[in-house]
Amino acid sequence: MNILAMTYDQLAAHFRQHYGRGEFHAAALYKAFYHSKPFEVKNIPEFAASAQLSDQVSADLQYDLPIPVHEISEEGVTKLAFRLVDGLMVETVVIPMPHHTTICLSSQVGCRMGCRVCETGQMGLLRNLSAAEIVAQAYDVKVRLGLEVRNVVFMGMGEPLDNLDQVTQAIRVLNDQRGLDIPQRRITLSTCGLVEGIRRLSALNWPQLKLAVSLNAANDELRAVLMPVNRRHNLAELRQALQDYPLARGNVLFMEYVLIKGVNDHPDHARQLARYLEGLPVRLNLIAYNPRRQSPFEAPSAAEVEQFRQMLVEYRIFVRLRHSRGAGIRAACGQLGGAMV
Ligand code: SF4
Repeated sequence: MNILAMTYDQLAAHFRQHYGRGEFHAAALYKAFYHSKPFEVKNIPEFAASAQLSDQVSADLQYDLPIPVHEISEEGVTKLAFRLVDGLMVETVVIPMPHHTTICLSSQVGCRMGCRVCETGQMGLLRNLSAAEIVAQAYDVKVRLGLEVRNVVFMGMGEPLDNLDQVTQAIRVLNDQRGLDIPQRRITLSTCGLVEGIRRLSALNWPQLKLAVSLNAANDELRAVLMPVNRRHNLAELRQALQDYPLARGNVLFMEYVLIKGVNDHPDHARQLARYLEGLPVRLNLIAYNPRRQSPFEAPSAAEVEQFRQMLVEYRIFVRLRHSRGAGIRAACGQLGGAMV
């Protein structure tokens, strides 16, 4: 019984099935797990009358919390490195906003998508994280550090749609109002454009969930170089999947465009991008490239970013410049997965 991978309803069902008791004890356990520090079954008042049940549940209960082994901060952004039970490391980024905290979760150790702009992509995939390991990252920030986590973005290590079963179960647990209570409308999944994953996500029909797509180029030739996934699913296929994606009224898709000096910043690229986005309900985030270690690419200057943004504005694209905080500690977009500095 791994409580980190269970919604309250699943825990209550487990209690009924295994102990012949349901809601009363399950509700107390779930609440204590997320709200009491330190957490121990025998200290939960509802279990006081039954030492036998308390012992059984204690023996059955699992919640392997990853061990935070390193924590570094810059510009208010904190990068946490956790050691998992098998010794592998995973990273989570905590981004303070004026009135709340956003956390950037990892869904895999490494990633097999091989995007050229990304440090994690250079590691290859070591393994998927379980739903419990994903939830544990949020648990650590909210319960151990006591921060008010409002938004969750799956933009850490890994391609969440390449580990969709575990990620969707983690989202169900994150949503649970008796636990971490982070609703779907405050969760963003970021994908490199894995079309079969987008289609599976569409089939779940979670219209409040936000979807972000790393586009980075709007012609197939260049995108296939920057993002090998484009050789599997070209831009036309991706566009069709996005068009079919069920969005709640008023919601938009987020498109991410990492601007790389001399690579995807030509006026032709702006024109192709504008044409590609035409008719899609999107908001474009323009992000200046953060060179990863031994990167073959360079960051654009602020003037070059502004020039590209202006071109998009002239094409009537709704574009926001996104500043990636935490570059110095390698916690910015595309930089997770290296050694802590
Ligand atoms: S950008 Fe995302 S999908 Fe691409 S390699 Fe990096 S972690 Fe994987």
